[in-house]
Amino acid sequence: EIFLTDFLERSVKRFPDKTALNFQGFKLTYRETDRMVRSMAAWLKSIGVKKGDRVAILLPNVIPCLVGYYAIMRVGGICVMNNPLYTDRELLHQFNDSGATVLITLDLLANRMTALRSKTSIKEIVYTSIGDYLPFPKSLLFPLVGKKKKLAADVTPAPDVYKWKDIIADNAPTEFREELSLDDVVMYQYTGGTTGVSKGVMLTHRNLSFQIQQAGAWFPEFVEGDEVCIAALPWFHIFGLTCAMNYPVAMGWEMVLVPKPQGPQLLEAIRKFRPTFAPLVPTMYISMLNDPAINKTDLTSIKGCFSGSAPLPVEITKEFEKRSGSVIVEGFGMTESSPVTHMNPFSGGKRKVGSVGIPAPDTDARVVDLADGVTDVPVGETGELIVKGPQVMKGYHNRPEATAETLTDGWLHTGDIARMDEEGYFYIVDRKKDMILSGGYNVYPRDIDEVLYEHPKVQEACTIGIPHTHRGEAVKTFVVLKAGETATEQEMIEFCSDKLAKYKWPVAVEFRDELPKSTVGKILRKDLREEEVGKGA
Ligand code: ATP
Ligand code: MG
Repeated sequence: EIFLTDFLERSVKRFPDKTALNFQGFKLTYRETDRMVRSMAAWLKSIGVKKGDRVAILLPNVIPCLVGYYAIMRVGGICVMNNPLYTDRELLHQFNDSGATVLITLDLLANRMTALRSKTSIKEIVYTSIGDYLPFPKSLLFPLVGKKKKLAADVTPAPDVYKWKDIIADNAPTEFREELSLDDVVMYQYTGGTTGVSKGVMLTHRNLSFQIQQAGAWFPEFVEGDEVCIAALPWFHIFGLTCAMNYPVAMGWEMVLVPKPQGPQLLEAIRKFRPTFAPLVPTMYISMLNDPAINKTDLTSIKGCFSGSAPLPVEITKEFEKRSGSVIVEGFGMTESSPVTHMNPFSGGKRKVGSVGIPAPDTDARVVDLADGVTDVPVGETGELIVKGPQVMKGYHNRPEATAETLTDGWLHTGDIARMDEEGYFYIVDRKKDMILSGGYNVYPRDIDEVLYEHPKVQEACTIGIPHTHRGEAVKTFVVLKAGETATEQEMIEFCSDKLAKYKWPVAVEFRDELPKSTVGKILRKDLREEEVGKGA
């Protein structure tokens, strides 16, 4: 029985003086990080946080985010991670759905949160200032937490509002650690909100601990205590939490924090801190490739890249691998499965570009009939992907119906359409909800997107179905061109017509300066669809 807390304690014992956290050059060793965790835990305990109580964190990737998370775990609390770019409405949903009683946030958000507090069950608010740890321009964080004019630079004193720094200074590190079972819930992790309102996924200690052990078996050539992980994926999202926090902590690696993970900041962190392990999402690879600074950035420190959470266009993989000399290993996962269920072999086996690989250790995966959800389809045919394994959630918090629909006999229905080849590799075709039904044919938007990514002028592409009088739905693609390029709609349609069956050709191509994205960088098809429906009405 290993808990995440044990993984941290083990790294503290084995690598006490190695850097755990590197925030823009300010470094904390494993020993120092652990002391901070235990001071925070002492305070949480002193205000009465006990097993099962919910504590919310509302932070970008800064030191107190990791420290708070491990401290909450120590006292047996349930952590609720929140996205600092969320509006009050979105935050109220997560605070109230989870019933959080304590909130850890940033000075820039503290006044706003104090005002919001009366509509929630939150009592104590803790805020951290970046200046707590180093002279650091606050302006760097503004884009992460909202519009500058809305943010107060100074926190107005109020009852039960505390400074992070004071808490750490005033509370001696505790040895206390709540007795827990592996089936206790460690967090309510909210889903990405890509297709609708985000749901609180109950993840247990078993889920997250097994996930780390599954990952450990995958990358044998990465050395414990001796790698540098670029921690650019947001920790408030499950992919970042597992691959850029829990896994590096368990391995005793240095985490290089990149609170604003866009092209220039990612490339700068690579130049300065020479990461060796890079878990990133497709839009991050795309934004690096499209930043001119890539030409003066040596990417060769990176031994292995990992991608997940959205389809990685084949063209992007090729281009990034050419420039970095490393490989991008694509995997698949969802919040409901901690998240990873599939991965390509890194070096110990065959990697297939365009595939999400094979099931993780101890994970079963099947492709079943889209309509009945239970009958296996023949190899090579498409159906819904369902998965089972120790990393699969306990259920959705407060949503028994959604839980019953999604989990049957331990099988998690992913809502994704997939196929498996003769060698047992899986390919994600698309989400069930994104499938376009055009003139009696099923059209998968990803097919069209992949083709457009091959076009030399295209930076990003996103295809949706739009209402069509004869065909039910027709295909429309939104395209962002690379800087300085121009193109016509006709040119794009012709490019597709050489490569796709006629029923998949877009009837319309619209050029945009940017596409709507979720805060973890997923392109939001639903927003584009809603705009189109809005137009029609
Ligand atoms: P919500 O469930 O709230 O709509 P979400 O599904 O985006 O949001 P996550 O749990 O973060 O929330 O994402 C899981 C989904 O991401 C999967 O169901 C799948 O659609 C997509 N996904 C993950 N990895 C890949 C991949 N390698 N290729 C294609 N899609 C992927
Ligand atoms: Mg989902």
